Amino acid sequence: MNNRLSSKLVFILSLFFLSFIFLQPVQASNLETYEVSSSTLNVRSGPSSDSEIVAQFVNGNELVIFQEKYGWVQTYLDGEEVWVARHHLVKKDSSNTETASTGTTNTETSSDHKMVTITSESIFVRSGPGTSHEMVSSAVSGDNFEVTDKSGDWYQIMLSGSETGWIASWLTDQASHQEASQDNNANAVSSNSKSLEGYNIVVDPGHGGTDPGAIGFNGIQEKDVILPTSTKVIDHLRDAGANVIVTRTGDNFVLLDDRVRISNSYYTDAFISLHYDSSLNMSANGVTTYFADIADKKMGESIQSSIISQVSLHDRGVRQANYKVLVNSSAPSVLLELGFISNPHNLPIVQTESYQNSVATGITNGLITYFE
Ligand SMILES: [Zn+2]
Repeated sequence: MNNRLSSKLVFILSLFFLSFIFLQPVQASNLETYEVSSSTLNVRSGPSSDSEIVAQFVNGNELVIFQEKYGWVQTYLDGEEVWVARHHLVKKDSSNTETASTGTTNTETSSDHKMVTITSESIFVRSGPGTSHEMVSSAVSGDNFEVTDKSGDWYQIMLSGSETGWIASWLTDQASHQEASQDNNANAVSSNSKSLEGYNIVVDPGHGGTDPGAIGFNGIQEKDVILPTSTKVIDHLRDAGANVIVTRTGDNFVLLDDRVRISNSYYTDAFISLHYDSSLNMSANGVTTYFADIADKKMGESIQSSIISQVSLHDRGVRQANYKVLVNSSAPSVLLELGFISNPHNLPIVQTESYQNSVATGITNGLITYFE
């Protein structure tokens, strides 16, 4: 073997080891939303171009990535594990920053411009400063943006290219630095001024025990997502001074009649049943509030709009439905469907503490507003 050949071999070997290091299957630590950048993108049954094509995405389609292998990323389609080539995807609104560097980007930059980091699990970027403006894209926890302008509690941020969008300042790391932000006021209300003092609120975590409720697209059971959510709702309501009565505290089965009986045995000011939704249509998503008696519509609207102001999920509005727990409750009562566990985009969001805390804040503030 001559010298040239051996150095070539060393080079090839080092490439081999380097690729071994970098191409290790990595579990995506944070679920992130990506967008298809090519005009079409083949969706395959496995992480290789030899795998069967099972569908096709088109430009602009969004997907959540669950794992990455050899340049291929895995998502779900109709409940099935599917794979697409990583290089045809761009991370939503990260200005083409590589995933690996996003988390470590320092918020201090050499420029004079202020940087903000998204602290909420998932947020919408809008065309103007307020929730009434159109959504132009989205961002996830850890994303950094340069602030180019400010209007009230909203920041104008630099997106990829020369485009800009608006985000709520209270969903960023700058929230705590602001003295009179909307959210700080809202939090202050729920933690300090005890605005629900004297109110009896019944929290009804749906399902439990032998009743799993809806089954998520990855097999998760509704009852298991509800329980940690209800703990946060109960805590927030108690922080605001409410006397909270709970229909189930553990993984146990409670008859619908008993849930109603618990509520009707108190002078209950509000009965709040907590659920997560599911649908055979995997794209169904968002938050819905149901009421049975038209007299409860106003309370439902107050809670729904308050939740929507806190979370990034789609607003499905307030709807009428004759659910047994609502019809038989003497108290003003609503049933909340807090997102679709059958939707691969909603599920990873609704399972986070930050989402569940936002829901708890939303319900608490919605009730405070309603009782005012
Ligand atoms: Zn349910």
